[in-house]
Amino acid sequence: MTTYSAPVEDMMFLFEHLKDNKHYNEIEKYKEVNSELVKDILDEAAKINQDLILPLAKVGDENPCVYENGVVRTPPGYKDVYSKYIQDGWTSLSCDPKYGGQGMPKTVSTFFEEMLSSASLSFKLYSELSIGAYNCILHHGSDEIKNKFLPKIVEGKWSGTMCLTEPQCGTDLGLIKTKAVKDENGLYKISGQKIFITSGDHDLTDNIIHLVLARTPDAPKGTRGISLFLVPKFWVDDNGSVGPRNGVNTVSIESKMGIKGSPTCVLSFENASGFMIGPENKGLNSMFTMMNLERIVVGIQGLGISETAYQTALSYSKERKQGKSNDNSNGETDLIIKHADIRRSLMNMKSIIEGERSLAFWMSQQVDVSLNHSSSEVKKNASGIVALLTPVIKSFFTDMGMEITNEAIQIFGGYGFTKDQGIEQLFRDNRITPIYEGTNSVQAIDLVFRKITEDETFKNLISNIEEEIDQCSKNEKLSKHLNSINDFKKRLIEFTNWINPKGSTPKNDISASCNDYLKFLGYFCLSFVWLKTLRKSYENYDQNTEFYDDKINTGNYYFEKIIPRAEAHYKSAVVGSKYTMDAKFN
Ligand SMILES: Cc1cc2nc3c(=O)[nH]c(=O)nc-3n(C[C@H](O)[C@H](O)[C@H](O)COP(=O)(O)OP(=O)(O)OC[C@H]3O[C@@H](n4cnc5c(N)ncnc54)[C@H](O)[C@@H]3O)c2cc1C
Repeated sequence: MTTYSAPVEDMMFLFEHLKDNKHYNEIEKYKEVNSELVKDILDEAAKINQDLILPLAKVGDENPCVYENGVVRTPPGYKDVYSKYIQDGWTSLSCDPKYGGQGMPKTVSTFFEEMLSSASLSFKLYSELSIGAYNCILHHGSDEIKNKFLPKIVEGKWSGTMCLTEPQCGTDLGLIKTKAVKDENGLYKISGQKIFITSGDHDLTDNIIHLVLARTPDAPKGTRGISLFLVPKFWVDDNGSVGPRNGVNTVSIESKMGIKGSPTCVLSFENASGFMIGPENKGLNSMFTMMNLERIVVGIQGLGISETAYQTALSYSKERKQGKSNDNSNGETDLIIKHADIRRSLMNMKSIIEGERSLAFWMSQQVDVSLNHSSSEVKKNASGIVALLTPVIKSFFTDMGMEITNEAIQIFGGYGFTKDQGIEQLFRDNRITPIYEGTNSVQAIDLVFRKITEDETFKNLISNIEEEIDQCSKNEKLSKHLNSINDFKKRLIEFTNWINPKGSTPKNDISASCNDYLKFLGYFCLSFVWLKTLRKSYENYDQNTEFYDDKINTGNYYFEKIIPRAEAHYKSAVVGSKYTMDAKFN
């Protein structure tokens, strides 16, 4: 089995020392969320994830979900753990107390998301889409709908799904065919087929609330004619009790390379009754509330899986003996962790993972501000930053997840390729994260064609970084890194001007370089948060010298050994697309 011990110390370091967003600290309702409370939550979260959920990862992989006689059954043990999971209130952590939630900020719930991803992505997905559905209904549903559906979703007794994909329609949502026809009661009858629906059917909850994209009869073509509908598996009476089965049937479930404990369903909607959510033909806007937050969470999945891969590889490298290291003095075989190349591999993982955790924490403060601050201007600025960096978190973290799980397999040698150690499962489980919620390539296109064109937001990001650089200028120990981040920043601006679609670069050159730009910005953002982390590590050094020595060494590694990767992305991008587009592919 894999090794996982929740990184509570690192999370508490972030919560105590990097909660420095002035506007976040102004949010009245979060002032009571203090270190003591957060430490208690994280300690409890660590227990359930390490002791109960982690073992389910292997169980789900070896005993995938099954579909028999029209019913989807989850792997052995999932039901019992899910029931304890909701009894302990984990589905309600970040939800509004008005609907039974605990009202915790994203700064806290993001740590929980990471732990859960580290323990078992398959198990996590059952509640993850429920929280997505909760967010969508909260922002776009009427009071009646909210009161009827949200308390049960928050409690975890009902779960949620997101139904976009159809056989002919993946990335291009303008191709949706599912129909919605209004009936005499003001409800809608939904008909069509949806595929690849995560948790589309299962036996963990009493009801499943599907959020479905469909077209009304006279809707305009393309994405401007899509509306959003809430379609429960079982109809819900006015008094909130579960009634007869609605017209939603499971046709089959997919056989997959990973996340086998999560059912990916083909659903057939046959005159199923549903409520319209939000205005007609504006369904995509409403669905994006769910998808945008969900994309950040998918990035966190990549981070969580990376952490387990790193810990498992680290632990193996302290047990496995092969060869003699350069420093060998006794002639005995050494542990592989003594070899410089294994250490390089572990440090690549560690410096990227800790940087990502720090960036996710910085981003979660921005999300909290964007949702909760009292000033609409402050909210708008934070929303801009969140929109700009969402594709970066989603794609960079999940691509790094592929790199890290791959390196972890390599550390295990042949035992990484065989199934016994569980490390290859992490690679397979992570492989979906660069694909769903919008593929990473499409995220990169979104970043370049829609996000960096917002000049004010981009300037806002740069000014956040310049403020940090200013704060670090008094620390001589950081002077080398300051030079490096200043050069990096200049290059980022140069790269952004080159790739900005408002400029004169040919469109194919831009499109062929979006992935390089996203990687460049990812490495840059990590250098920003590593700078912050190093500053705080020096400031607090005497409080915990062992912890901060390790942080400083890891941060130095990031600056010296990882940042040079970014330049290769820049150089490859600005060559343009001639050879790419001239290829004949005969
Ligand atoms: C396990 C699993 C769970 C899923 N869960 C859900 C779910 O809960 N709900 C749901 O609705 N869907 C779900 N999906 C569907 C998932 O979101 C889609 O698979 C994904 O969005 C990609 O769509 P597609 O598979 O049709 O690929 P396509 O859209 O056909 O893309 C194929 C390739 O072309 C590229 N491409 C497409 N368009 C462009 C473009 N304009 N420019 C450049 N490149 C492009 C893509 O990046 C990709 O590499 C799930 C899928 C899986 C496998």
